[in-house]
Amino acid sequence: MVDLQSQYAKIKETVNTSIQEVLNTSAYINGPLVKEFQSDLEKYLDVKHVIPCANGTDALQIAMMGLGLEQGDEVITADFTFAATVEVIALLKLTPVLVDVEPDTFNIDINALKKAITPKTKAIVPVHLFGQVANMEAVLEIAEEHNLFVIEDNAQAIGADYTFKNGTKQKAGTIGNVGTTSFFPSKNLGCYGDGGAIFTNDDELAHTLRGIVNHGMYTRYYHDVVGVNSRLDSIQAGVLKAKLPLLDSYCEARRNAARFYNNAFANNPNIITPTTSSCNGICETCNCHVFHQYTLQITNGKRDELHKHLLENDIPNAIYYPIALHSQKAYKDSRYNEDDFPVTNKLIKTVISLPMHTELDNEQLSFITNIINNFL
Ligand SMILES: *Cc1c(COP(=O)(O)O)cnc(C)c1O
Repeated sequence: MVDLQSQYAKIKETVNTSIQEVLNTSAYINGPLVKEFQSDLEKYLDVKHVIPCANGTDALQIAMMGLGLEQGDEVITADFTFAATVEVIALLKLTPVLVDVEPDTFNIDINALKKAITPKTKAIVPVHLFGQVANMEAVLEIAEEHNLFVIEDNAQAIGADYTFKNGTKQKAGTIGNVGTTSFFPSKNLGCYGDGGAIFTNDDELAHTLRGIVNHGMYTRYYHDVVGVNSRLDSIQAGVLKAKLPLLDSYCEARRNAARFYNNAFANNPNIITPTTSSCNGICETCNCHVFHQYTLQITNGKRDELHKHLLENDIPNAIYYPIALHSQKAYKDSRYNEDDFPVTNKLIKTVISLPMHTELDNEQLSFITNIINNFL
């Protein structure tokens, strides 16, 4: 699904130099590279504050802690996403409220979101699934009307741009009150271990978050709030500092692969290719979808057969996600009604994700697309 070895081979010298710098100084925790990467990422995202932390799940948890959400507060998020999003809501004893997604973008459904709001609702967590930014204009309008926090789960869309109707652009993850990301190796900006970060333009919230990641300390050994220990270590920061200047070219490489796939499947009646919502098709200049995953919908009922056929031909592929969150044992709840999730319930049976990374070449893409088109 990814090819981290070929990617590393091309950047070996800069990454090794960065790692060697950490080894030479032994500044493994909170070394200068962490600050340098933080500041580079703030510039890249055009956001006032980046707070590095240990992983993308921690980032979500810390963001919710920093906003002062309390037991019983309802937090709305999408039913079709990785479990981390709903996991931290439940862990903090907040009440997760799962809603359906849109059939074309797989992102949170705005009408379902509106319907789910109650007097207890305190926050919305749009997930920019598979690399495409959710409908943030609508999410912000709803949040403003009902006085809700917006926490963007940007683990899959770092580097993507969101274009508002008036033409202004903002980087994914910097649009809501707070945004979070993951630097897990296979993410679009991946380190060589675990890593994550939180973004915000709110000075006061940034200060609160910086204390929470560090045991609730604002002055050394004075613990003002209950915090956690969540750090991005210096070696990971070194890897990320070396890779950040390449992120735009990585996004471009992913979009090129997506374009190849889209063209190859354009005339296949059994395949729905990914839709981009902020522009028509994958446009050349817009960066609204950075293709963390390239996900097809197979409409003739042969998704599972295709999955097997591809494995038999040594073509990696994956079902993201095979079970809706509202059906997971851990998150089942009598409040949910199956009729509320027609899209997710359909997607779990029709989606399949193909290899998607920065190193795909036309020969590989031809091989994959020919096998799929011949089978379907
Ligand atoms: C990967 C991911 C996370 C969690 O990131 P980790 O660094 O693995 O903890 C959270 N949300 C989404 C949507 C993800 O894809």
